[in-house]
Amino acid sequence: MALRLFNTLARATEEFVPIAPPRVGLYCCGPTVYDFGHIGNFRTFVFSDLVRRHLEFRGFAVNHVMNITDVEDKIIRRVRETGTPLREYTGRFTDAFLQDLDALGCRRPHHLPRATDHIDGMIRLIARLVERGIAYRTPDGSVYFGIEKYRASERWPGCACRYGQLVNLNFDEQRATERVAADEYEKDHIADFALWKARVPDDGDVFWESPWGQGRPGWHIECSAMSLALLGDGFDVHLGGEDLAFPHHEDEIAQSEAAGGLEGGLWNERRPFVKYWLHAAHLLVEGKKMSKSLGNFHTLRDLLGRGYTGREVRQLLLAAHYRDTFNFTVEGLDGARAALARIDECTAKLREAAGNAVAAGPAPALVTAFGAALDEDFNVSRGWAAVFDWVRDTNRALAAGEIDAARAAAELAAWERVDGVLGLGGKSAEEAPAAAVALLEARTAAKKAKDFARADTIRAELKALGWAVEDTAKGPKLKKT
Ligand SMILES: [Zn+2]
Repeated sequence: MALRLFNTLARATEEFVPIAPPRVGLYCCGPTVYDFGHIGNFRTFVFSDLVRRHLEFRGFAVNHVMNITDVEDKIIRRVRETGTPLREYTGRFTDAFLQDLDALGCRRPHHLPRATDHIDGMIRLIARLVERGIAYRTPDGSVYFGIEKYRASERWPGCACRYGQLVNLNFDEQRATERVAADEYEKDHIADFALWKARVPDDGDVFWESPWGQGRPGWHIECSAMSLALLGDGFDVHLGGEDLAFPHHEDEIAQSEAAGGLEGGLWNERRPFVKYWLHAAHLLVEGKKMSKSLGNFHTLRDLLGRGYTGREVRQLLLAAHYRDTFNFTVEGLDGARAALARIDECTAKLREAAGNAVAAGPAPALVTAFGAALDEDFNVSRGWAAVFDWVRDTNRALAAGEIDAARAAAELAAWERVDGVLGLGGKSAEEAPAAAVALLEARTAAKKAKDFARADTIRAELKALGWAVEDTAKGPKLKKT
């Protein structure tokens, strides 16, 4: 069965046919690095990791790009307030972001371009838009994208020249209110957006030279320049949070198609800037929109500090279908912990049953069922259902002694393929440290000598180390608490 996905551009679920298979270009709008990432951001980033992993599972050679927005109003304000050079300030939060991605088990994108390394490409795109009469310079030295000029430019063959490809817009209504609402009086039309922002005193030494004077790029043009530079003029998948669909992604389309890509050729080729657009829905936290004033604002670091693992946060962020609004709760993290424990317990038993056996027997149904679920617009909730059906059936079969070593090895191999997409990895702290193993041996000896008081003391010492003793038919075992 082919992979199908909901393409915001078509407003429909479509079969996924990349431009030049098996290669797939995947771009995800990355973080603005002025602070630590919060879990609302990470829902999108973990989803983009899932998309990449599933495409790889299906045999595509993915080129995964995620930009780092390292110049922006909030960043400039913090740089000014803290007196830290831009690169130093944003470098610190970029490093923190990458550590967070690692903690969440995300594969690092192949390219993590920084906006400030692509200023030349942005200037090239803006210059072509000015040359084509679609962008205009205002007296202060800023450059705006002219929506009306773009919409009136059908004379260029191959250009959709349609503003509102991702969202339906009512321009006449907008026009009626624009005089009242517009606070930037220099713009021709309220929807016009800045491609280049002229330098103002508050920018300090954060500025670049351009044909229009000193200044810095607008946010939208950054993503166009970086995606086109790394994935070529016209690529397969662009992904982001649903709040970015308008205006950010709409503006990316308009300026990229109007400029004809970095090479100026798209326009004549009837090839869109991006073939498939995916948007991940909002995350609610404890039933509400996340905000600092409501006390439901969590960075990933907050949650790790409360004793949860990146693996548990990942499981919860991936619990629901990406297009469904998801309610993230701390209680849900306890549920994620329990869900992971069920999987870990099942795979540990399989590992024990498999020993050194080589996988044999019919291919386990898990891979087929899971793959089919993800093929249907990355339906991860159906994927989880397949996983937990498998856990239940496997536990039952293990208890009934129906799984021999070869079969256990085959089931484990199936789980590992599925986990290549889910990205949970093994429970990393599974291996008990030498100190805990020594204590366990001492406890066994104490019990043998009927020194039960000593055995209890050792149990307490183990507990302090984070390990519990479980007495099984095969003797005592250590279990991480
Ligand atoms: Zn973007």
